[in-house]
Amino acid sequence: MNLLEEQKLIFHDIRHKIGWSVNIRYVIALLGLGLFSFAMFYGLTVISATLFLIAGLAGYNFLIHLIYLFSQRFKLWQLVFLRSAAETIDVLAITIFIYITGGLDSPYWFLYLVLLVISGFGVYSLASLSVFIIAIFSALFYLGLLTLTYYRILPSYGLVVNLTPQQLLELILNRAVFVTVAFFLFSTTIFYFSKLVNQHRKELMKKNEELLGALEKVKETDRLKDEFVATASHELRTPLSVVRENISLIEDGVVSLDGPKGKDFLTVARGNIDRLASIIDNLLDISKIESRSLVLKRQTTDLTQIAAKAIELLKHKAEEKQIKLEANFSRQPLANWVDADQILRLFINLIDNAIKYSDPGGEVIVGLEISGGNIIGSVKDKGIGIAESDRLKIFDRFIRVENEKTNAVRGTGLGLSICRGIVELHGGRIWVESAVSQGAKFIFSLPRVEG
Ligand code: ADP
Repeated sequence: MNLLEEQKLIFHDIRHKIGWSVNIRYVIALLGLGLFSFAMFYGLTVISATLFLIAGLAGYNFLIHLIYLFSQRFKLWQLVFLRSAAETIDVLAITIFIYITGGLDSPYWFLYLVLLVISGFGVYSLASLSVFIIAIFSALFYLGLLTLTYYRILPSYGLVVNLTPQQLLELILNRAVFVTVAFFLFSTTIFYFSKLVNQHRKELMKKNEELLGALEKVKETDRLKDEFVATASHELRTPLSVVRENISLIEDGVVSLDGPKGKDFLTVARGNIDRLASIIDNLLDISKIESRSLVLKRQTTDLTQIAAKAIELLKHKAEEKQIKLEANFSRQPLANWVDADQILRLFINLIDNAIKYSDPGGEVIVGLEISGGNIIGSVKDKGIGIAESDRLKIFDRFIRVENEKTNAVRGTGLGLSICRGIVELHGGRIWVESAVSQGAKFIFSLPRVEG
């Protein structure tokens, strides 16, 4: 969850609480009015300060309600201010209520604690901080009430009237300490619990996000698999139909095996069977790499020889496309403990791609060097290049860049993921440096391991 989302949630949370407190105040005012009317009906009370308090509560609540309705566009600090102001007035209303119901004798001071509990349980730490504001104001107002009672500025009634000044002072001091400690303990406990709840909520949200991310990945893999099955079947069917067609022509006697055409037809069929075999090999390898069941047959091997062999194997293909394929490394042996077949595969895949994705007349350079504790291999071309947004993706299985130029080239999107699998099994890494139309340089680094 980023900062903006968190602020939005805090905003929503505080606004939600303000809405609730408005409703609660209406209910309290209505209840108060009901009780008061009941008492008046039976002649137990006359119009008094209590009625004004109820009217005042309803009036100020209406004002908060109005502001609340327009608070959607408020800034966060304005909303926090509104909430704190409303709660301070609540504390004041409770203080007046306590005074009306007997001051020092009134049992209703616990209402402060109720308010602390209601407003303190913010899910977000910023919102639950307001619990301290209420605690401070509750203490201030209540202590103010006690002080005014002590100095007899406010008329007091009830049992307090009969106390000597010394007894009154003792009672007030006791009450002041008790109430302040209670406020402090309550607010700290509530704040602590809010924080805990907040932490758990954050963790849950994080886990939720991770799960959603994983689900998206699974869905994406599933989609890619479906797409792959379609591509793979297409890729397998094309050479297969060529082979079948050629054999049918020979079988039906349209083309004679003895004539010059017959040999050509067999050569084409043979080429397509090779292609089929290579696609199937790739599929088997990728599944071996992914299930971690590919076991490397490591032995001390001269990497320059492997690179030279790959160049030799693809020389003909490069020449056909008038592409210059060159080795740019010294012939000094570069021994490393690797699986020779797999590293040859790696070079072949990279060089083959470089040829495939270069225009005729291009150039492909194969490099090999030592850098620190690693051996760095590279295949550089001057072909179509790869956009930044695709540079990481192309190492994932089944991924092919979709554009006019790449669509013109055959492929299954498996070559590079096999390359990455091979390099990673050797404890190395592979990456690409490229820009669209500027060519590409695939680089891999393998740790130097003496056999
Ligand atoms: P394939 O070539 O069979 O599609 P790869 O896994 O070898 O599969 O390559 C994945 C994609 O990466 C290719 O489809 C192509 O778009 C891009 N790519 C690979 N090598 C190069 C390169 N040398 N130059 C430009 N694009 C490349």
